[in-house]
Amino acid sequence: MEKRIAIIRGDGIGPEIMTQAIAVLDAVAAKFGHTFIYEEAPMGGNAIDAFGVPLPESSLATCLSCDSALLSAIGGPKWDTIDPAIRPEKGLLALRAGMKLYANLRPAEMIPQLKDACPLRPEIVEKGINFLVVRELIGGAYFGEHKTWEENGEMAAHDIMAYKEHEIRRIARVGFETAMKRNKKMCSVDKANVLDSSKLWRKIVNEMAPEFPEVELRHMYVDNAAMQLIRDPSQFDVIVTENLFGDILSDEASQIVGSIGMLPSASLGDGTCGLYEPIHGSAPDIAGQDLANPIGMILAAAMMLRYSLEMPEEAAAIEEAVNKTLESGLRTGDIMEEGMTRVGCKAMGEAIVKMIG
Ligand code: NAD
Repeated sequence: MEKRIAIIRGDGIGPEIMTQAIAVLDAVAAKFGHTFIYEEAPMGGNAIDAFGVPLPESSLATCLSCDSALLSAIGGPKWDTIDPAIRPEKGLLALRAGMKLYANLRPAEMIPQLKDACPLRPEIVEKGINFLVVRELIGGAYFGEHKTWEENGEMAAHDIMAYKEHEIRRIARVGFETAMKRNKKMCSVDKANVLDSSKLWRKIVNEMAPEFPEVELRHMYVDNAAMQLIRDPSQFDVIVTENLFGDILSDEASQIVGSIGMLPSASLGDGTCGLYEPIHGSAPDIAGQDLANPIGMILAAAMMLRYSLEMPEEAAAIEEAVNKTLESGLRTGDIMEEGMTRVGCKAMGEAIVKMIG
């Protein structure tokens, strides 16, 4: 098969980890007889430097015309003080909106080789951790009106959290359908005791439930969910929630299962073209030093093969190669443990490529 993949190399550690992900994809292409054509789509701080905007129109067009898109991470201190209207994150928000990516899927699965890195007590970890956060991505407070003004001699600000029925319905559907492919349990997280947007959220989710009679549905307030995630994460299968709550809960989930450098995520819309990225940022503190863990980026490439390019066997080959590499004792600094062999970003990538064979 021939597939065109948009490549967003990003900022900070982005280019380093992307190089390793492409090497892994090339190994998969060679093994399974595919051709991957990579098309560069600059975005983020580097695009601001080169084009004056965080997301050039040509980059969005490239992403839309390719079969799928791979993104590393963007941003960094260099662009923290520039005009807020063209900051790197604006590029990411515009890309998600431009590609109409309303669902973010973040798996949180305990990798057995890394269970010692879990901050939870062993008796909690023993029960197993394997859930997926489905986060609404282009609505809610991040996309509502942001306003700061002066009133009676002091500053005031608001950010409007708004949801329309169709926005809730389409993300709830992703939640239900994902639950059907997993253990058929869905927990919808909201703050319906306080927020109107949450009351509507809960009403719509309940209305849709009869369409999915096999899915065991429950609702949980976000403050309780944050607590339950560390008290007993084994109770969760699929968590579906709105943008801001999902942002926070999925970061919490990533800490529970180990390093932030290990986890991928997928952003999907109605078509097959998605955006795949690791969950971490551009880690400017370790950029350019061959210290980054490329595994989250590599597993994002695997997710892309599974969800957008219909290559489940190829995706499994990458996941297996990552597991075997960890079994062999190699670790980047962020997941280093006693008795293991510390390697850099490049050596970790090369070891995974070798395992694919
Ligand atoms: P971060 O995820 O970049 O880093 C947090 C910590 O985790 C740092 O100590 C970093 O060294 C470490 N880390 C992250 N990824 C790692 C990896 N692959 N291997 C080893 N260690 C890793 O978050 P931050 O420091 O809050 O943000 C840094 C920059 O990234 C900011 O400009 C922020 O806006 C941006 N950011 C971008 C995205 C994105 O592109 N989707 C997401 C979050 C943050």
